[in-house]
Amino acid sequence: MLRILVCVKQVPDVDQLRMDPETGNLIREGVPAILNPLDANALSAALSVKEEYGGEVTLITMGPPAAESALRECLAAGADRAVLVTDRAFGNADTLATSYSIAMAAQLDGEYDLIFCGKESLDGATGQMGAQLAERFGAAQVTGTLKIEQVDEAARVIRAQREVDGGVETLEAELPCLLTIEKKNYPARIPNLKGKLRAKKAEIKTVSSADIPGLDLGRIGDPGSPTKVPRMFPPELPERGEIIDEGSIEASVAKLYSLIKGE
Ligand SMILES: Cc1cc2nc3c(=O)[nH]c(=O)nc-3n(C[C@H](O)[C@H](O)[C@H](O)COP(=O)(O)OP(=O)(O)OC[C@H]3O[C@@H](n4cnc5c(N)ncnc54)[C@H](O)[C@@H]3O)c2cc1C
Repeated sequence: MLRILVCVKQVPDVDQLRMDPETGNLIREGVPAILNPLDANALSAALSVKEEYGGEVTLITMGPPAAESALRECLAAGADRAVLVTDRAFGNADTLATSYSIAMAAQLDGEYDLIFCGKESLDGATGQMGAQLAERFGAAQVTGTLKIEQVDEAARVIRAQREVDGGVETLEAELPCLLTIEKKNYPARIPNLKGKLRAKKAEIKTVSSADIPGLDLGRIGDPGSPTKVPRMFPPELPERGEIIDEGSIEASVAKLYSLIKGE
């Protein structure tokens, strides 16, 4: 049976995020948290594989306790199990510490054949997690996956298409393999009532730093994060341009010419 892991993240709805102009801090109060939209596409791809070849789909997220709601949303859409990695010690993590923590927590449940990630998150948007997790899991990786053509569990091979500049590339990779998913062929699944009821009652496994044997506390959270963000500020907007419309092309060109000449 294929063991499939899907990494999902709960993110603030960035359309509603504002920045405090004095401090440069993001104002998170009152901003709803949502499932990272591209992770719904990653889940959809994982479920397609399960539907065609069988298997079990496990979700994992690292985040605050409230991230449980993102997991329940994914359980309602068809995932089988969910793991919430949560602890204050994981806070203030950059991507290096996040990928280490997620990989260490995931390994508590054994090894996975396929690992799915969204292409990037709505908030951090580094797009680094997929590649970092592939390294951590010792897995091959296919980034920007357009379509999964075939999974051969016996031969331990996956064939998938990925989008490249000006075309499509078909790759074969050995299992275990991590894929980051393009949304085009894997639309988000809409949960039905049965799924919602099941998700409401589902047990979610919670993992804290103390639950992970051998976890190096110097590699998680703030101490494990070499990336430092000294300041955040909104981009300076360029000066508004001037639209020249003198009523005709000839008159507009004449006006533009005189402006360039500095008249
Ligand atoms: C100095 C620093 C401090 C930070 N402090 C905090 C903080 O205190 N709190 C905070 O929330 N963030 C914090 N962040 C942001 C945090 O590091 C990133 O959100 C996180 O590492 C994931 O990176 P990303 O969002 O760029 O993911 P991307 O690489 O853009 O995401 C790609 C995919 O990886 C998977 N993924 C990403 N994040 C997770 C996750 N947490 N769980 C499961 N799967 C995931 C998803 O499938 C996602 O689609 C901090 C970042 C820095 C640099």
